[in-house]
Amino acid sequence: MVDRQLRSRGLKDKGVLAAMLKIPRHLFVPESEKGRSYYDGPLPIGKGQTISQPYIVAYMTELLQLKGNEKVLEIGTGCGYQTAVLAEIVDQVYTIEVIAELGERAKNLLNEKLCYANISFKVGNGREGWSEFAPFDRIIITAAPGKFPGKLFSQLKDGGIAAAPVGNFFQLMMRYFKKNDKIEEETLIGVSFVPCV
Ligand code: SAH
Repeated sequence: MVDRQLRSRGLKDKGVLAAMLKIPRHLFVPESEKGRSYYDGPLPIGKGQTISQPYIVAYMTELLQLKGNEKVLEIGTGCGYQTAVLAEIVDQVYTIEVIAELGERAKNLLNEKLCYANISFKVGNGREGWSEFAPFDRIIITAAPGKFPGKLFSQLKDGGIAAAPVGNFFQLMMRYFKKNDKIEEETLIGVSFVPCV
């Protein structure tokens, strides 16, 4: 997966590639999809949601330009695979999922089974952010809002970076840099994510 889907398409962030070599993706996909765990596309995880294509997980993580000492807020825990990639690389991950069953399942897998000690889980609407732990060095949204939620910009540290798929039907991957309390945006590739509610 890492060679054929990530390196061959030009992804080269060493931390991201090492994390994805290490994490057992098959533990994150439901029983019915196990045979396709390392497949080059998204897979259903129940409740109408999906685990993103490995390439997209790697691509988005690379966009965040992580060094390792960051505090990251993730919106859309889903099955927790992207969460694990982040937790392998950075100091602390805060992740919010709106569907309780998915959030609890991910928490159980990541905390109990895989023993990650640097992930905090919350069930709720990620558009509100997580003010107790703000500001964050990085923010990543893995569901598509029509427009990047303003509250999340206010919880991004100055000098921080955010990445999200933005749009209703057609979505574009966006990256935002907060500099001197202003947001600079960069438009990247066309993508397809489940909507951010
Ligand atoms: N990174 C996840 C992506 C899951 S799909 C993975 O690879 O498994 C996107 C997730 O975002 C879904 O689980 C969906 O329930 C969740 N979501 C959608 N809107 C949300 C919101 N407003 N707040 C928190 N989570 C949200």
